[in-house]
Order: sequence, then C-alpha cells, then structure tokens
Amino acid sequence: MIISADRFLADLEALGRIGWVDGEGMDRPAFTPSYDAARKFVEDRMKDAGLAVTVDGVGNIFGTLDGSDPSLPAIYAGSHLDAVPGGGKYDGPLGVMAALEAARTIRENAIPLRHSLVVAGFTGEEGGEMGGTFGSRAFAGLLQEPFPAEKLSRVGLTADGILSAKGDPGGIACYFELHIEQGPYLERRSIPIGIPTGIVGISRYAVRLEGEANHAGTTPMKERKDAMREASELLSEWFAWTDTRDDFVCNVGVFSLHPGADAIVPGRADFLLEIRSLRDSIMDEAAAQFRSLLEKRKKVSVSMEPVVWKGAVDLDPLLQDAVEAACREADVPSVRMPSGASHDANPMARITRAGMIFVPSAGGISHSKEEYTSPEDLARGADILARAILEADRRL
Ligand SMILES: [Zn+2]
Repeated sequence: MIISADRFLADLEALGRIGWVDGEGMDRPAFTPSYDAARKFVEDRMKDAGLAVTVDGVGNIFGTLDGSDPSLPAIYAGSHLDAVPGGGKYDGPLGVMAALEAARTIRENAIPLRHSLVVAGFTGEEGGEMGGTFGSRAFAGLLQEPFPAEKLSRVGLTADGILSAKGDPGGIACYFELHIEQGPYLERRSIPIGIPTGIVGISRYAVRLEGEANHAGTTPMKERKDAMREASELLSEWFAWTDTRDDFVCNVGVFSLHPGADAIVPGRADFLLEIRSLRDSIMDEAAAQFRSLLEKRKKVSVSMEPVVWKGAVDLDPLLQDAVEAACREADVPSVRMPSGASHDANPMARITRAGMIFVPSAGGISHSKEEYTSPEDLARGADILARAILEADRRL
C-alpha cells in the first residue's frame, strides 16, 4: 500500500468514537455539538497534515494541499461527516479520512502532484430538516431560493451563508468519493472494490385511496368501500409487476389508515411510493404503470402526487477508468456497478466530473449500528482512492 494503513485506521476509529453511544450507535446529526466536535477533530488532523483549512457558510470543511501547477483546477475528494441517528462509523467519514490520508501520503513522500488536492467534509448529507445532501448541494449551487429562513435560523445558518458556500466549478477538476457500499453486491461476489457507474435517481409519490369509513360489524362485506383492502389489492398487483423487472427498485415504507380504529372500516389509506433507477425514463415508466393500476380501482377515489424528484446521474468514465487503473496497479480485483443510494457525488456530478469507489458492507447492512467493513477493506479502499487521485492528476 502507498498509504499508512495503521495511521488511517486509528484516525478513522478515533473519529468514530465522537458521538458514539454504546448499544445505540452513532448520534451525530449535522448542526449538533457532536457533529461540531467531529468536524473539529477533522480540522485538527488537517492542520497537522499541513493543509490550509476553511469552513464555508453552511459548515462544509475543506483542507487544501497545493499542487505544483497553480493554473490547474483542484482535485476534490471527500464525503460527509454527519450520520443517521443510530447509524454506524463509516458511512461518510470513511471518504473524508481516506482523502486526508491521501493528502498526507502525497505530502510526506513528496509525490508529484500537479493539481491541488482539496479534502472535503460535507455537512448534512443524511437529510433532516434541510433535505439530504444539503452541504454538497449548497456547494454545487443547487439550493433554490427563497431559502427557508426559519429552518435556517434553527440550525444557525443564514441565506447569505448558503449563497457564500457556492463553489466555483471552474476551480474544480473532479470529485472522488470513497464510500461503503451499503448493499450486499461486493460481499456476495468476494470483490473488494466497486466502481459505481452511476447513482440512482429517487422519485417519491404521495398516494391516497379514499373510500368510506363505516361500522366494521354491520356493514355488509360486498358494500364496503374499504381503503385498506383496495390499497392491499393495488400493491399486490404492483409488486407482481415489479417482480418482472430488474431495472428499478421500489418501496412503500410509510403507510397509514384513517381513522385507524379496530372497529371501523378504513375510509382512507395514505402511503408513500418510492422508485429508484439509474434511468430517469424508467422511473417515469414505473410511475406511469403504478398510476394506471391505481386508476383502475373502482370503489375508492384516488390521487398520486409527486413529492420528491432527484434525477439519476452518470459518473464520469475517465474517473472510472482512473479507479480501475489504480486497482490494476495495486493488483486488487474490482467490478463496475450501480449505486442504489444517493451520495454527495450526486450534486457534485452536476458541476464537475465525479467518481466513486465502494468497499464491501458486511451483510449489506447500513444506516444501522451493525454497519461494518473490515479494517483490511477500509484500508484497501483508502489506498485505491490515493492511487486514483494520482492517476487522475496525470490524466486531467
Ligand atoms: Zn453516506
């Protein structure tokens, strides 16, 4: 390995203790004291490594190692420092600490680097009030005005802060993000490195079926306008259709019945339908199919309203090739694959070349305190990131 695996793993574990609650998992949402402590830890390590540190108007942190050619835009590498409640230690911090280790390796070994390398720790990737990938969307200039002043002030932010956080795309050569896979693909194939080709888009729809609430004992079965029964029949038909497809995934994770009492035939069913695909057109096709099944229901009135739309993004072929070359150089097997989760690389891909590297997640588990990746896999991912940065430095 070209990196110092022991140093990298020790720092990653130390960062993983900030906000960690035994038995509960990580308690480190953005804009909280534990988050600030984690960012301070990273800031100190960046300064120790001789990087020039800045924190922008939304709380993203950047540490810069100067390249030899100041006329070139910078290579960015990083991920996020916040965690979902009860999550693990590696979702996010892995990519930040690995980028920092790459910078340390390059600096202390005086490895030639033409582009500056900027280590990025984005804030608020995991959602919450400000929505997911908040820090990287602010940096990419993707947040829409007017900004919600009240929500901002609750987390100590301002509209001016958001505007000032917008990065200059002309100063960015590319963005790399090392991340745990968060699925079982790599582990099942015993391949240590995944090279994502794209990040799925996410669409969500609020679906409502409205029948008639009535007495659950006296209303004849055939006369009921049972929103629960209609919804279950609809979803059975839908999932029978989705089983025939492998180009998207879908989920109903929120479902409620009204009035929601044991002796009342449900008058209304509300649920959220989520569809994810690497192709926007396939998300639309699936949504149209769902709508046609929904509108076939006879005993209830129905509605389906879009609530979230994030388009899919392709990751950059040159960076995929750079990661693949890095794997060949290190004699590490790799495979190209899609990313089923969203990442900071999604907003970044809208303003620059973006590339990702995945390492295996044990059991495919993530967003859980049980999230685990072996030290060997973590260090191997960091080593491939460092090599890929150097490869991109030569190719761009
Ligand atoms: Zn993440």
